[in-house]
Amino acid sequence: MQDKTIGIIGGGLCGLTLAYKLKLKGVSVKLIEANSRLGGRIFTKDIEGTKVELGATWLWDYNTSLIELAEELGIQFFPQEMKGDALFESMSAHNPQRFQLPPNQQISYRVVNGTSQFIEKLTNQLAAEEIALNTQIRSVKEEGNKLVLNSSDKEFVVDQLISTIPPQLLVNSVEFSPSLPSEIVRLGNTTHTWMQDSIKCAVTFTSAFWKQQGLSGVGFSHVGPFMELYDHSNKANTTFALMGFLNGGLAQESFEKRKEKVLGQLIKFFGDEVKDEFISYEEKVWGQEPLTLFPSNRFLSAHQNNGHSMYQEPLFNGKFIIGGTETASSYAGYMEGAVHRALEIAKEL
Ligand SMILES: Cc1cc2nc3c(=O)[nH]c(=O)nc-3n(C[C@H](O)[C@H](O)[C@H](O)COP(=O)(O)OP(=O)(O)OC[C@H]3O[C@@H](n4cnc5c(N)ncnc54)[C@H](O)[C@@H]3O)c2cc1C
Repeated sequence: MQDKTIGIIGGGLCGLTLAYKLKLKGVSVKLIEANSRLGGRIFTKDIEGTKVELGATWLWDYNTSLIELAEELGIQFFPQEMKGDALFESMSAHNPQRFQLPPNQQISYRVVNGTSQFIEKLTNQLAAEEIALNTQIRSVKEEGNKLVLNSSDKEFVVDQLISTIPPQLLVNSVEFSPSLPSEIVRLGNTTHTWMQDSIKCAVTFTSAFWKQQGLSGVGFSHVGPFMELYDHSNKANTTFALMGFLNGGLAQESFEKRKEKVLGQLIKFFGDEVKDEFISYEEKVWGQEPLTLFPSNRFLSAHQNNGHSMYQEPLFNGKFIIGGTETASSYAGYMEGAVHRALEIAKEL
């Protein structure tokens, strides 16, 4: 195995965990990422020291593979702040109602310094020449016992290849020669990509003024633009933010319009301190991310075909495996699924 090279398409959590685990086994790896940054659906943005999650945020006690990886890499987490009352907005004509959150909910944890800690620490385990950024794989060709991969300007020859990009995107954006089996193409086209349509926003402030009002920062709304909102201050309580999910219909609006609507709703929830303490508005419209979503009119239910058993079967005489969180046999779609699948594949190779 040592003299073989394994190619990995995609530098998200699954691809990076796989590269790290294979390196530990002494395998030579080449990780190829289309974007100029690593992380994929993990995207922690740093606004002058205030870190906000515009992609994955939470993990839970049952995420055992992810927690084990965190321990291995020295990554820490802390419970999502939920102390204080929550607010609920049922109609635009009414003020939000205050209510107490029920106790003993499943604790969600946040990662100290953001989920991109996983990306940074895994990347540190790889040598610069093992990673190719800005390289979108467009074709994979079987040539004897090798696979030849091409981007617009580079070629890679590998012994085995693992794709970690969402299966629906894979079957529609990478050309295979010979073609992928038709049942795999059908499966890919009906495999839901988790959070592909979501819009996340974060607003940073000079203080957590909502806490002085006895509020947790948790908000729910049937009106929008944000449908759910959470405190997003850091563990040390030195940086302050609120983070939420916006109504998907707002993807068609401009950035300025979304920002104006979010700030208007926050003023309705928390008062004029929103204006006084405002630092910045950040957002990510995932439905406009061509390296996550393949645009399709087909309706897929959440997690449809995630973890399908056909993904367990290698293709091209064992040379090609379809990975990524959507193919995990447990917790598919989540960070836990991404790590679980990477461990599963690393064991197989
Ligand atoms: C808004 C949002 C909120 C979320 N919240 C949570 C949460 O709270 N908890 C949780 O557990 N999970 C959450 N998730 C899901 C979590 O982010 C994913 O499960 C995980 O990050 C997926 O990792 P992955 O490596 O499988 O895929 P990805 O992160 O999608 O990585 C795939 C990589 O492949 C690259 N790529 C695509 N095409 C090509 C190509 N042709 N050539 C080369 N590279 C290519 C992409 O740029 C990307 O970097 C959330 C996701 C989103 C978007």
